[in-house]
Amino acid sequence: MKKIPSLLLALLLAMPPGMASNLPDLGESSRQFLSDRQERDIARSIMRDIYASPAYLADPETEAYLNNLGSRLAAESTASTRSLSFFAVREPSINAFALPGGYIGVHTGLIQAAESESELAGVLAHEIAHISQEHLSRMIAQHDQGYLPTLAAIAVAVLAARSNAQVGSAALATSQALSLQNQLNFTREHEREADRIGLDILTSADFDPRGMSGFFNRLQRANRLYDNNAPEYLRTHPINSQRIADIDSRVEHMPYRQVRDSNEFHFVRARLTAMEGTPEEAVARLRDQVQNRKTPLEAASRYGLALALARQDKHAEAEKELAPALKSVDSPMLLNLRAELRARAGDYRQALDLYRSGMARYPLHLPLVYGYGGTLILAGQAQQAADLAAAQAASRPDDARLWRLLAQARAALGQKLASHRAEAEAFAVQGNLAAALEQINLGLKAGDGDFYELSAAEARRREWQETLTAESSRK
Ligand SMILES: [Zn+2]
Repeated sequence: MKKIPSLLLALLLAMPPGMASNLPDLGESSRQFLSDRQERDIARSIMRDIYASPAYLADPETEAYLNNLGSRLAAESTASTRSLSFFAVREPSINAFALPGGYIGVHTGLIQAAESESELAGVLAHEIAHISQEHLSRMIAQHDQGYLPTLAAIAVAVLAARSNAQVGSAALATSQALSLQNQLNFTREHEREADRIGLDILTSADFDPRGMSGFFNRLQRANRLYDNNAPEYLRTHPINSQRIADIDSRVEHMPYRQVRDSNEFHFVRARLTAMEGTPEEAVARLRDQVQNRKTPLEAASRYGLALALARQDKHAEAEKELAPALKSVDSPMLLNLRAELRARAGDYRQALDLYRSGMARYPLHLPLVYGYGGTLILAGQAQQAADLAAAQAASRPDDARLWRLLAQARAALGQKLASHRAEAEAFAVQGNLAAALEQINLGLKAGDGDFYELSAAEARRREWQETLTAESSRK
């Protein structure tokens, strides 16, 4: 039901036969294959559907972790860190995919299946290499301009396939999707290049290069058992013996490196486990992990158990499980949960103190900011929440959560135009200009706001309207 566009990736990376030999030198990435505007338009239409889909995992902690890990890797690549954005997809299958605009989706199944952080990092590094080498835009640019709307239509069809299998497959059949998908093996050169560059990125970022070879070997072994149901990763990034041999021979000459997984790697895995199934199932699973010491980091099992208990609204018990974890490990994720549990128990004063000390210690950990802002509103301090969100959104205008926080704070203050305006910005960040326009129109009709706010909102409305009009005229 909740298939996410792994097929889309296959489409995007699929190369028509014969094209591979006409490619410019793959090592050179200075040439632009798509204009920034074209790429932004494509990315916007794809991401709009992803953010609206139930498969998108709207969890700030998981997203923050992936972005931390991803930017540590991207710093070692030629891809601009600024433009990369990682998000999690609620899918048990093992996969990750790169999209236009520097978006990289990671299935929760991949995070759970990785046996070390280096393995997960290896896959992310491979995806980053697809982006730094402009594999997507090379592919897209080889089609004429008329292909762009088709591509967007394919993206929508793939997403539609999740909610309605029949409609989805019919739409796919009418597009060129299936024929493109059958040409998967023509991406072999791109795959090999992404492996080579991904391995360099992985090593420069001080991860264990054997993470990549080990994981691919394991996937391929598993593949023999799967037959036609190969893990999705293998279908979208075909691995053959040659590829594995290439990686193995590179890794062979590298010095052995013992790399310790970050605490957050274990915490995120425990977090995903805590979200799975019913709260009762999650509590039972994590209690078993704690009692039988089934994870390398006991604090992670306790963190997961506390989260699962919180799903059952057993806040006191959750705090009790979390306490020993807080004593043994220092992590913003633990501090965030501790503050959240206090807030959910109704103790806003202490929760706010905890958030403040957490933010002082970890000023870059955004989930603390979101939690702090939300708790300020609950505690009747909406003005402080609005000031915080406005200041943060000014320096991170691409963060939809900050705009939503600002919208909530403004709404609590009874500022209608300002609230709709912030909600509109959140939709615009997520690529949904139609919803952004709807919000800003509601705001303009609300009848409050001074002259400057009204004219600023009016200008924004015009800007979005022009973008939408230009986009539809290109189709
Ligand atoms: Zn690949």
